[in-house]
Amino acid sequence: MADRLEQDVITSNVRTVLERIRLAAQRAGRRPEGVRLVAVTKSVPVERVRAAIEAGVNLLGESRLQEAIPKMDAIGAREGLAWHFVGRLQRRKARSVVGRFEMIHSVESVELASEIDRRAGETGVCQPVLLEVNLGGEPTKAGFSPDVMADSVVALDRMSHLAVKGLMTIPPLTGEVESRRLFFRRLRELAERVARMGLPRVRMDELSMGMSQDFEIAVEEGATLVRVGTAIFGPRPA
Ligand SMILES: *Cc1c(COP(=O)(O)O)cnc(C)c1O
Repeated sequence: MADRLEQDVITSNVRTVLERIRLAAQRAGRRPEGVRLVAVTKSVPVERVRAAIEAGVNLLGESRLQEAIPKMDAIGAREGLAWHFVGRLQRRKARSVVGRFEMIHSVESVELASEIDRRAGETGVCQPVLLEVNLGGEPTKAGFSPDVMADSVVALDRMSHLAVKGLMTIPPLTGEVESRRLFFRRLRELAERVARMGLPRVRMDELSMGMSQDFEIAVEEGATLVRVGTAIFGPRPA
């Protein structure tokens, strides 16, 4: 169990984040229910994850598989509780992720998608995924280049054990936080372009964008999933 103080801090943080989401949605004329909070638990010990669940969090995000699996086992399956995988995924780890996470936010290539599709087929499931887009063209960052999106989604539309639900991005984190708005807007526009292609199996219902520093801007620009760690759990150990 988290101690009483820890529980109070996390409860208060979750409430504050939800309220800020609500206000940002309101400013943009959106329904607050159209935005889901993913509490990102990397490096957060299991007692503190439990405290977040106690505070009402029902969607947890992990970016490190080796950390996620013991945590998921410790917490166990609960009605209404879901895990999303948000981090970089190596192809050879696809098998461990498929069917275990409600959504994989970080599909960065047709090759990775194809491996997820194959593993999902073996398991007999259809895996919901988001496509990560590298909007800033940063060489160190994973993700589809916007230029190849149209061709890539045509290929993904043929994968019958993959359910593409939308797009995800991590904008360049340098400079003013407000400068990220442009990237969030571009992600939304890209999703609109893909949606207009009218592919039968590729959906563009979800936009995963916004983290602790910038989730309100992301909500104003159309985020449906915000991935928030620090603003809930405090700073991570370096
Ligand atoms: C760690 C992480 C987050 C959360 O970042 P904070 O700044 O702590 O809110 C969001 N998305 C991904 C992919 C992450 O790895």
